Amino acid sequence: MIPYGKQEITQADIDAVLDVLHSDFLTQGPKVPEFEAKVAGHVGAKHALAVNSATSALHIACLALGLGADDWLWTSPVTFVASANCGLYCGARVDFVDIDPQTYNLCPKALAAKLEQAEQDGRLPKVVVAVHLCGQSCDMAAIHALGQRYGFRIIEDASHAIGGKYKGEFIGSGRYSDITVFSFHPVKIVTTAEGGMALTNDDHLASRMNLLRSHGVTRDQSLMTHEPDGPWYYQQVELGFNYRMTELQAALGVSQMDRLDDFVARRHERATRYDRLLADLPVTIPWQHPDSYSGLHLYVIRLQLDKINRTHRQVFESLREQGIGVNLHYIPVHTQPYYEAMGFAPEDFPEAMAYYREAISLPMFHGLEEGQQDEVVRALERALA
Ligand SMILES: *Cc1c(COP(=O)(O)O)cnc(C)c1O
Repeated sequence: MIPYGKQEITQADIDAVLDVLHSDFLTQGPKVPEFEAKVAGHVGAKHALAVNSATSALHIACLALGLGADDWLWTSPVTFVASANCGLYCGARVDFVDIDPQTYNLCPKALAAKLEQAEQDGRLPKVVVAVHLCGQSCDMAAIHALGQRYGFRIIEDASHAIGGKYKGEFIGSGRYSDITVFSFHPVKIVTTAEGGMALTNDDHLASRMNLLRSHGVTRDQSLMTHEPDGPWYYQQVELGFNYRMTELQAALGVSQMDRLDDFVARRHERATRYDRLLADLPVTIPWQHPDSYSGLHLYVIRLQLDKINRTHRQVFESLREQGIGVNLHYIPVHTQPYYEAMGFAPEDFPEAMAYYREAISLPMFHGLEEGQQDEVVRALERALA
């Protein structure tokens, strides 16, 4: 089976992890700050907070922005459930904004229309989570302008997008948002097994997220309510969690980051080759906005169902039977039973549903070989015939 995504582990990665195992610190040592500095330096952010998953990063990002009961968080329905669940963790309510039919990202026009209505109804969102689907940035300038006008804060869920750029700057630079989140799950671009990171240019948000990832406990005197009782002293000043990343994970991350630009460049070579090989097939290939240089976590095609005599499901099943580990990113979140129970109906977000009826993620990872890619294309040709 050719999987849809796959990590690449080199001897250098293995050596980096083994070095940590032989060292004094398995957690809370020097590797986590080194990894944070490396990612922050690469993307041009002031602060980076490593945590044990992107899900944790989204949670502490929402809390740091003050999201709470009676607040609203809005995001795209075409994303992994974690982009929405972070709002529920904070006791907030979640709503969705339909996608742009070309980029499949949260549509700024739909956002503008929904905000206008929400203003009249007195239910404006406090936080909007902009998900960079497949690694292609959302239209952040437009979303940021709406944020200025309506007063919401912005989290970029860049779980798919490390190494990608928007308007010539790395995603994570924070020019158009408050906080950016990366995921280091093995199917993503850079891996630490499990892991995530929250980046921000705001000192206050960084300080809050730093507390929240480690029990709300501090040894920083400036954050305490009174002078320390002695050298042993720490204070709990927030209700935090244990969301810390280990030294093993951070060492793997540091080693992987050395190859990030190469990872993304290789993904682009694969994508360009797919674009060419699929040009004459009844499928829509991923459209790239000229402002965007995608991280290319995923390569999603849409079937032109009116041009073939197969259903979406038949094509998908045929590919799997032929050993191609295709996937579907994503089942629209508002159709999940947990969200459906909140009153969402499938056709509340028609572009998301149209996408769901046609989308297939083809194998896309930096180690994908040309021969494997040819195999994927031949299997797709047979599945569509
Ligand atoms: C993978 C993913 C997450 C969650 O990442 P974890 O590190 O597994 O918690 C969140 N959002 C999106 C868009 C993702 O793809």
